[in-house]
Amino acid sequence: MAEISQGTIEQAIQTTAETVLRNELYFCDLDGLAGDGDFGNSLATGFRAIKNEWDGIDKSNIGAMLLKISMIVSKNVGGSSGPIWGTGFMKAAMLTRGKRAVTLPELTDMVGAAIEGIQARGGAQRGDKTLLDALLPIHETLQKHCEAGDTDLGAALKDCAEAADKAVDETRNLVAHRGRASQVGERSANTPDPGIVAIATILQDWCKHHGVERTPTAPEVAKATA
Ligand SMILES: [Mg+2]
Repeated sequence: MAEISQGTIEQAIQTTAETVLRNELYFCDLDGLAGDGDFGNSLATGFRAIKNEWDGIDKSNIGAMLLKISMIVSKNVGGSSGPIWGTGFMKAAMLTRGKRAVTLPELTDMVGAAIEGIQARGGAQRGDKTLLDALLPIHETLQKHCEAGDTDLGAALKDCAEAADKAVDETRNLVAHRGRASQVGERSANTPDPGIVAIATILQDWCKHHGVERTPTAPEVAKATA
């Protein structure tokens, strides 16, 4: 079975930092449509810290590395996103203690654990117009690949990016019930959730770095990856 090395995961985190820093202003603009406009800045502050502290991060194994990243994210990402993203990384870290590589089923379990942690932490459900509306279909997509015995990471990435892209469009017209955007109620309809856009943008950039050809469907993701 093809394994995903620690090096691949390290690359994915560095790519994510580039994605988030490049879109700092754009993600703030998106958040400003229905929220307080701080999302891009909150996330960028966290990933800027990851970049700055990168060389000193314990990389003896995947779990140690993700645990340190979860701490940096919790400490530096502001607003409601810090505990949410931090919990996601921490749950993934707990499943990868001592590991130097993971299989696709193990990666699937990491995403599943992150989702459980995020749900326990923030109380959001599917359809509440939060990043869970991207993470849940991504998890289901990974499960399908595992059940089919298809362990090709590139193919899985492409389908996950597709699922996240679809989530941007499918949730655009929902009214937010959780997170900061819920405070403006109806004003949140007809605007994409910046967290969902961020997840879809990160996946599209992972595809690009992995040599997977794919054209984004949601206009926000196309703009964020242009
Ligand atoms: Mg905000």
